[in-house]
Amino acid sequence: MKPSLATLALGGVVIALGIALDKGLWTIPREWNPFQPLYLEDPLTPVTQWKLGRLAEDRQACLATLETARPGTLAYTPLEDHTPVAGCPLDNVVRVRRAGVDFNASFVASCPLAVAWTLFERHRLQPAARDVFGEPVASVRHFGSFACRNIYHRDNARRSQHATAEALDVAAFRLADGRRIVLLDDWEGDDSAATFLRRVRDGACDVFGTTLGPDYNAAHANHFHLGMQGMSLCR
Ligand SMILES: [Zn+2]
Repeated sequence: MKPSLATLALGGVVIALGIALDKGLWTIPREWNPFQPLYLEDPLTPVTQWKLGRLAEDRQACLATLETARPGTLAYTPLEDHTPVAGCPLDNVVRVRRAGVDFNASFVASCPLAVAWTLFERHRLQPAARDVFGEPVASVRHFGSFACRNIYHRDNARRSQHATAEALDVAAFRLADGRRIVLLDDWEGDDSAATFLRRVRDGACDVFGTTLGPDYNAAHANHFHLGMQGMSLCR
């Protein structure tokens, strides 16, 4: 069969792009190149989540990504692998004290969760706050990241993402001017707080494998569950 003109043209374009790449005439921006490391300050692209997924298998690459944070924005300590509760060993974890925002309490996070939070904070949470309120989020109230348990309200005995410190439950935000946005109180409605929370939920879906909130079920009426596993489950 004779190749169509369109097929030939496409082949020509592919060859030309290959030559351009090979000669360094055209470089893929770092954030679009799956073979380049993940940098926290780079814009999010569809490749970001893929890079993030690979960090779960690569402790050194993950810690190197945390090192790319703007100086002074991220305060964390890498932890030795340990088993705080029988049955729930923790590997490749860090203690996060500050990550662009203050927290009500420091928390243990898998290294990829710490990376994901920081990406989310930089590229989705703060832009939403600036757009809606004209000021950034100063601190975040969470319900914790580690809990050695199975998924609630499920008959299957699957381990929760919290059992490996791969999820953070976020309950409220305090803006720079002191105003508090609380999921339980502010999710419903169409005022600025509700608008902000919906943007936060949608933005989290661009980074986390699992984002669950009040729309998902009653167990999440008062917090967003931001978890690493899953393929962009977003409810
Ligand atoms: Zn959760």
